[in-house]
Amino acid sequence: MGNGTKKRILIIGSGIIGLCSGNYLLKDGHDVTIVEREALGDGASCGNAGAIAATEVVPFALPGLWKDVPGWLLDPLGPLSLRLSYLPQFLPWLYLFLKSSNQKKVEKSTKAMAAFLENAFEDYKPLLGNAGLEGLLKKEGSIMAYKSEKGRAKDQYFWDLSQRNGIEFQHLNRQEILEREPALGEQAHCGVYQANWGHFANPADLVMGLAKEFQKNGGTHLIDEVEAIEFEDNKPKLARTKDGQALEFDHLIIAAGAWSTRLSRKLGDNFTLDTERGYNTTLPTPGVELNNMVLFAEDKFVATPMSMGLRIGGAVEFAGIDAKPNYSRCDTLLTLAKGYLPDLNGEGGTKWMGRRPSTPDSVPVISPSRHHPNVHYAFGHGHLGITAGAVTGRAISDMIAKRPSEFDLASFHINRFD
Ligand SMILES: Cc1cc2nc3c(=O)[nH]c(=O)nc-3n(C[C@H](O)[C@H](O)[C@H](O)COP(=O)(O)OP(=O)(O)OC[C@H]3O[C@@H](n4cnc5c(N)ncnc54)[C@H](O)[C@@H]3O)c2cc1C
Repeated sequence: MGNGTKKRILIIGSGIIGLCSGNYLLKDGHDVTIVEREALGDGASCGNAGAIAATEVVPFALPGLWKDVPGWLLDPLGPLSLRLSYLPQFLPWLYLFLKSSNQKKVEKSTKAMAAFLENAFEDYKPLLGNAGLEGLLKKEGSIMAYKSEKGRAKDQYFWDLSQRNGIEFQHLNRQEILEREPALGEQAHCGVYQANWGHFANPADLVMGLAKEFQKNGGTHLIDEVEAIEFEDNKPKLARTKDGQALEFDHLIIAAGAWSTRLSRKLGDNFTLDTERGYNTTLPTPGVELNNMVLFAEDKFVATPMSMGLRIGGAVEFAGIDAKPNYSRCDTLLTLAKGYLPDLNGEGGTKWMGRRPSTPDSVPVISPSRHHPNVHYAFGHGHLGITAGAVTGRAISDMIAKRPSEFDLASFHINRFD
């Protein structure tokens, strides 16, 4: 790259999205700094279920979903819940979520996500390969377990829509499930196997490995919190931090997960982002072995076999960013898991809560600012931040380099609900 195109790029946030973006931008020869307020990141990227869920292209807001909303309020420990006190702040997101559930919009978002996730595995290859992290990725596929044929039939629209967008899967009967996962008890009546699925054996090792790789290749990683963005001649020019640093940039990338819109607002870019808080417990001696990642369809949780144990997690809780975690959700998930895995040992687990940065239409924001050509956003990956980390990093580097995009950028634009 000639000197004329080498830019000073500042990324806010060193979760999976900031790190993949930083590593891809270094490959283009830029001078890249990541600023992150916590040594290991205090976001969602280290403690999650670790899946590259490349087949998860259908959004959550599906036609007819509005009927379920009252139930969210009534069952505080249900798979999807809303704290009543949070309802007033939640209404704008809920409105756009329900609006996004019309069939035309759902089909459009699915198509956009299918094109976006097509290279989910491929785009990780250069990042993992250079960092010696390939061993962390297990590509064994996943099993979605159903309690009944009726449960599977309820998801018919989801599976049809997935198939129409090129997603491959295979129905399993009880016997076929057992051949793949002997540990599953009678509650797993039938299922669906998806081969194009993988998981990282430890997402925290992935994040730390990518951070090391970033530094090794000349990236600067600062621990500090960005509090303000300052302008010169109406152009964003520097980020002012809590410790008083002035970080100048040519380009700014906001990859601050659930906190991103607190920063984008300072630049006049509003977007209705909320956080779906999720919970899990990692069991060091689970007493059962799983070969694949298993998803439990009706009860909406997952079990991932990881290097440090079996991670059982899920749940969606709308309560805002700052509310205290309610770890009784972890216990509820473990009780559900024992129903499917009769020999599960639930003792000695480590509990975790993370904040998924969620958009109303389940499509992330990968977009230039509405007002400032030198500012880009990369947030709102919801349930799919690990899945889409590398494709997002590549997309951001393509935007900065003005290379053509391989997917429909309009669906990912920050202005799409304007
Ligand atoms: C229970 C659970 C299970 C999940 N399982 C999966 C899965 O299996 N597969 C999958 O693809 N996804 C999964 N996800 C989703 C995934 O974890 C997220 O989408 C992803 O981690 C988001 O990454 P991010 O980099 O955008 O945000 P984060 O990881 O949250 O990183 C943002 C960072 O920005 C920093 N920051 C914020 N504001 C500032 C500031 N002003 N100054 C400096 N730093 C700042 C924060 O400290 C934080 O570290 C799961 C999430 C949960 C909760």
